[in-house]
Parts: sequence; structure tokens; C-alpha cells
Amino acid sequence: MSLALLFVISTVGFFGFVPAIAEKGMNTVEPHAPYQISTSARALHDSLVIADLHADSTLWNRDLLKRSDYGHVDIPRMVAGNQAIQVFTTVTKTPAGLNYNHNSAEARDNITLLAVGQLWPIRTWNSLTERALYQASRLHKMEAKAPQQFKVIETQQDLRDLLTARANGSEIVGGLIGTEGSHALDGELSNIDRLYDAGFRMMSLHHFFDNKLGGSLHGASQAGLTDFGKAVVRKLDSMPVVLDLSHSSEAVVEQALVMVTHPVVISHTGTHGHCESPRNIADSLMQKIAAQGGVVGIGYWDAVCDISPQGIASAIAAAVELLGEDHVGLGSDFDGSVHTALDSSELAAITQTLMARGFSADVIRKVMGGNVVRVFGERLPTEN
Ligand SMILES: [Zn+2]
Repeated sequence: MSLALLFVISTVGFFGFVPAIAEKGMNTVEPHAPYQISTSARALHDSLVIADLHADSTLWNRDLLKRSDYGHVDIPRMVAGNQAIQVFTTVTKTPAGLNYNHNSAEARDNITLLAVGQLWPIRTWNSLTERALYQASRLHKMEAKAPQQFKVIETQQDLRDLLTARANGSEIVGGLIGTEGSHALDGELSNIDRLYDAGFRMMSLHHFFDNKLGGSLHGASQAGLTDFGKAVVRKLDSMPVVLDLSHSSEAVVEQALVMVTHPVVISHTGTHGHCESPRNIADSLMQKIAAQGGVVGIGYWDAVCDISPQGIASAIAAAVELLGEDHVGLGSDFDGSVHTALDSSELAAITQTLMARGFSADVIRKVMGGNVVRVFGERLPTEN
């Protein structure tokens, strides 16, 4: 064996294994005895259309068509959890030393390491747009390989077809594609069109650091929108995509809400009054989002302070109290380098704890997916 070949094999071996080990340490589930689900909770759960606004599963090289024993989401686990729809949010850059309070835009980028380490195409190594497009292409390939199991939802018709198929007994699940931060535009407004053409239907402005659009909730400046940021918001509002204001500074959220003419989402969050974390924006801003018809996705990680199914139900109850039953959804942040108490196969535990808190079947139906389906159903293009 030539030295060069040996080098290639050992490099592939190293990089091929190390990211899997990294994911095993980052997307973790608290060890627990199986959740015991009552017959009545199971019956209600099985009748729901469940939709989740945020999971970063495309960041990892796992085959999502196969059931894995690590990470949080894959298609078989969605089927087991009766989850109909997942928004897959593409992460393109995160700062080393990531925290909720203050990150520098100049910090070393973790995702470059992951892109190289997982042997993503070379074009992804220094283009954030290419990283988003590559992750989207993995979902399209999955659909092409297993059209009976997975469908990318790009239009209202796609959404209707998925829900009809499931109502007729199919176990097919749907994926919407989103960005996590508009640094994924590589600074070019026209890249919104490239992402749209690749099927992106939810786009966010920020992640953990200030970018060309303005301030992150966890950045250095806490600034509002730049002129470029305003141009992005204006363009997104003119297109059939859902704007996600998660991770944006409060100043950005405030300004964007004045500009938009359609409902927006905070795809993954807790509420500040319930869980006083720098991860969560002020309740008054959340109320403005709800007043404009938007939905906030309640997470399953430390943004809700207590990650147990009871804790998640308590966070949902607080959000319903604050925002009303038509403005709360699920936003797990599954596979987003978070520690949770359940994975996507165990969502019945949430339904059961919501029932135990006295929520009606009607309200449970809305927060588990109905509200999210409404927002996309109204906003998606009628056809491609
Ligand atoms: Zn996030």
C-alpha cells in the first residue's frame, strides 16, 4: 500500500469516526426508564398532527433514514413518535466557546472543522451558502431514495399531500428546510433566491454572533438591523417563506416586527418569565409576535429550565398563558448540541404531561402541531 493511500485511509478513518464520537457527546439524552404512556394519552397522541419548528439534524453525517442509538431525530424515530413534520434548520457557523451571553464574531468557527472533518464537499469549506445548500441536498437525496418514507415540503400542495397520505394510514413524514442565521447568505441578498430555489421555506437572521444583518441575542453589540439586515427582512417578507427571529437581539426583533406584513416565528425558545435565561427574549416581544399571528416553538433543552416532560409541559403552559393557545408550538432544538430528556420517538410523554395538566384535546392539538401547520399552510407558495 502506498504511503499516500495509507494517508488517505487513515485520514478518512480519523475524520469519519471522530465526528460521530463528537455527536454522541453533544446530542445527548438523559438516561431514563421508558416513559409509561396511558391508553388515553396514547389514543390522543396517535390522533395528532405533530410538527416541530427546529432541529439541526442535517449538520451531522448520520443517515436519517436509519434508526440510530444516538442523536435525537431520524425518520424511524419520528415515525415511532408520530411526528408528521420536522423543520430541518441548517447550521453554517458557530463560534468556539459558544455561550448565551457574549460571543465574538471573530471566534474560531466550529462548523468549518465539522465540514472538513465529515468530508463535506470542498465548496462547503469556506462558503456558508454552500454549507446550507449541501445540508438541503442531503434531504432532497433522502426523499429521492425513500419517497414513501420522507417528503420535502415546499408548497401548500406538498403539505396537503403529506397530511392526506398520513390521514390515510401512510407513515410518511415531512421535512421543511430552514436556515439558522443569514450569515448563510455570504453577504449577498441574491443568495436568498438560491436558497429558496433549493427548497428553503424558513429563514432566520441570526445565530450566536453578530453578523452583517445586525446584532445577535448572544453577540457583542446587541445592535438592531443594519441596512443589509433591513433589505433581507424586506425581501424575505416579500417571498413565500417564514421569517424566524430566534437568536436575534431584542433590537432586531423589535425592528423586524415593525417591518413585516406576515406572521413570524421564534423557532426554538423558552419564555423569559417562565425561565429567566439570557437565551430567551422579553415576554413583551413574544406578545408582539403573537399579536401579529406568529408562533413560538417551545424547546426541550435548558431554555425551558427543566428538561423533563413535566418541565416541557410547564413551559408550554406558561407560553399558552402568555401568548394564547394559537401562538405556541414545538421547537425542540433536537440535534442542536443540546441535552434533552427525550428524543423524537418519545413525544407521547409530552402529550401525556399536557393532559395531566388539564389541557383540552383541542389545545393539545394546536400546540403539538396545528399552529405550526397553520403558519406554513398560509405562507408556503401554492405551487413551485
Ligand atoms: Zn439555535
